[in-house]
Amino acid sequence: MAWCPACTRYLTPTSLRTDGTCPYCEQVVDYSRQRKVEQAKARGEELEEVVPVPWHFKLLMVATVVYLGWRAAQGVEWLAHHFG
Ligand SMILES: [Zn+2]
Repeated sequence: MAWCPACTRYLTPTSLRTDGTCPYCEQVVDYSRQRKVEQAKARGEELEEVVPVPWHFKLLMVATVVYLGWRAAQGVEWLAHHFG
């Protein structure tokens, strides 16, 4: 969470602009991100927006894949039992 002293409000990483500035007053709030953008610009690159995937989302994806795999195995077993 970044804090904007000019607007006296907290800003989530996704509500910040890609260059680390506040979307309301355009002040730099996230200096580390702004530095990265400036370094990329110095190299002549455009920094793509990095949105980190939360660990619980990855866990959910893994759980979904495992569950679907298990259901698929059950389905195959059912088919083998009825048509085998
Ligand atoms: Zn602001």
